[in-house]
Amino acid sequence: MESVKYKRIMLKLSGEALAGEKGYGVDFEVAKRIAEEIKEIIDMGVEIGAVVGGGNIWRGRDGGEMDRVTADHMGMLATCINALALQDSLEAVGVHTRVQTAIEMRQVAEPYIRRKAIRHLEKGRVVIFAAGTGNPYFSTDTAASLRAAEIEAEAILLAKKVDGVYDKDPNKFTDAKKFVNLSHLEVIKQGLQVMDSTASSLCMDNNIPIIVFGLDKPGNIKKVVLGENIGTTVSNQ
Ligand code: UDP
Repeated sequence: MESVKYKRIMLKLSGEALAGEKGYGVDFEVAKRIAEEIKEIIDMGVEIGAVVGGGNIWRGRDGGEMDRVTADHMGMLATCINALALQDSLEAVGVHTRVQTAIEMRQVAEPYIRRKAIRHLEKGRVVIFAAGTGNPYFSTDTAASLRAAEIEAEAILLAKKVDGVYDKDPNKFTDAKKFVNLSHLEVIKQGLQVMDSTASSLCMDNNIPIIVFGLDKPGNIKKVVLGENIGTTVSNQ
């Protein structure tokens, strides 16, 4: 077996990642590819918790004038749709999974119970944490940080459209520079777009490294798990 750098990880996928080029909803070709990549590292003995965003369907801020809390409830439900899509794609390639939700929906998925989640991980099941933190005014980045701390994940793998953290938007500026390493404090102080500040603070306070990388090239999840420096590592070092 290849030696892995992280034995237990939290994989954060944005809703956008699941939408692929379509930009909305779920692109099942993309979901299948992600599922196959996850299978590769499950087969290497890595324990995987996953949080999926909801931005491909609904974000609280899309609500405009509507009540913010209701808009956020809609966003959390969107993450459940994505979690079920990812679950289906994973099961289709032979990976055992459980979806646990922060808002109870017993007919659809298990409620979030930390001890149960850890037991599933130990048995080699991917646990997909849905409905964010269960609270409005938070994000799925915060949910990923919180659950990572709870399950004692060694790192958060933050899969993005961009292949790391840059000093300015690489889609707009050709001279944008990619960081290889950053501290959580630098990210917060410089307002770099990694996670929102609540999620970043949680990672800093609990000493959880974040590896930001692009999902554009197949095999990247495995590379990160093996310790290859392909994106940007944010940590307290
Ligand atoms: N959300 C929330 N509380 C949480 C997590 C998510 O209210 O703990 C809502 C919020 O409205 C957010 C939406 O769910 O905009 C979708 O999550 P997010 O924007 O983090 O998804 P992503 O951008 O990663 O696709």
